[in-house]
Amino acid sequence: MLNIFLQDGLTDLEQKGLKRTLRLVEGAQEARITIDGQKVLNFCSNNYLGLANDPRLKQAAIECIQREGLSSGASRLVCGNMNAHKLLEEKIEHFKGTEACLVFSTGYMANVGIISSLFDRDDIIFADRLNHASIIDGILLSRAEFKRYPHKDMTALENMLKNFSGYKKRAIITDSVFSMDGDIAPLEKIVALAQKYDCWLMLDEAHAFGVLGKNGKGAAEHFGLEDKIDIQMGTLSKAAGSFGAYVCGSLELISFLINQARSFIYTTAMPPGIAAASYKAIEIIEKEPPLRQKLWNNTNYLLNELKKFGFDTMMTQTPIIPILMKESDLAVEFSKRLFKRGVFVSAIRPPTIPNNTARLRLTVMATHTSTDLDCALEQLKAVGKELCLI
Ligand SMILES: *Cc1c(COP(=O)(O)O)cnc(C)c1O
Repeated sequence: MLNIFLQDGLTDLEQKGLKRTLRLVEGAQEARITIDGQKVLNFCSNNYLGLANDPRLKQAAIECIQREGLSSGASRLVCGNMNAHKLLEEKIEHFKGTEACLVFSTGYMANVGIISSLFDRDDIIFADRLNHASIIDGILLSRAEFKRYPHKDMTALENMLKNFSGYKKRAIITDSVFSMDGDIAPLEKIVALAQKYDCWLMLDEAHAFGVLGKNGKGAAEHFGLEDKIDIQMGTLSKAAGSFGAYVCGSLELISFLINQARSFIYTTAMPPGIAAASYKAIEIIEKEPPLRQKLWNNTNYLLNELKKFGFDTMMTQTPIIPILMKESDLAVEFSKRLFKRGVFVSAIRPPTIPNNTARLRLTVMATHTSTDLDCALEQLKAVGKELCLI
């Protein structure tokens, strides 16, 4: 019975061209990787600053493991709260300039835990339609009324804020950088609306932390609105090259989450070695602005060249560069041909994104060399011509 059900489901996916399988990377996450036995240029990773295989992070983890061991042994509230966690949280709250910080094991768990503990069925949440799945799952789990506004449509958001009153609490939740489009939320306007309509504001900085802002603190810094956002969340698994997530805010917020967030309470604490690696990553982000500058130089170069070729890179403003294909088959074919030519770029299709907006999605790294970028551009141009896109 079970297998019949599973086979039906899988066949259905296969017929729609949506069935996925895992690919295997040999060695570490770098600008050039070996995947399924083939050497390729990597344009798929969120490892924006190239820190995932940085010797300094590895050394910090090793030293911490020697001192504090591998596992934290229990949840934070029992006896898993270790020195490495404390140091990391102090580091992040100092870096972000907030009163307090709490670390979760992943960004997914942070969003699910924060949102489901703060809101319940008497509340309403307004969320951008393109927000990350973990925000959506957190809202569903909270049972709050869930209103999605069209992507970055501030008029639609304001109309919703006017029309839906009578709830106990109201909140706006948005990604700061949208992970499939690479554009940035209009934070100035969102903050103004949150204030005008007396809403709490939560920001997910997953793709902005270490990337945006003068000091790499994220979009809140980029817009100079750090003190206007109630709940600032981000992950340590993307630009920071490590693993885990943070939430920053008031002492009360953090204390409340320690007591109420189930994905914080009912799970083993992050391994101390990982916390130590994250600490080192933030130190590097703080002390080495040239690394971030290299990421942006690479991004601007690649984006300008792609535009010159005539590709539609949508509205991106960040190192996430989409190339619009519209049809899923075309995106998949483009990605396959690039792979054969040694360039790894993922094809993104519905239901991850709206219908008829299938695309390639490139992510740029600080550690791509100019040769890497030029090689990729040459192949993108060649395949674009083969497929009559440019
Ligand atoms: C990646 C991502 C997450 C999840 O973070 P993990 O640490 O990978 O679980 C949450 N929100 C956004 C916007 C993301 O891009």
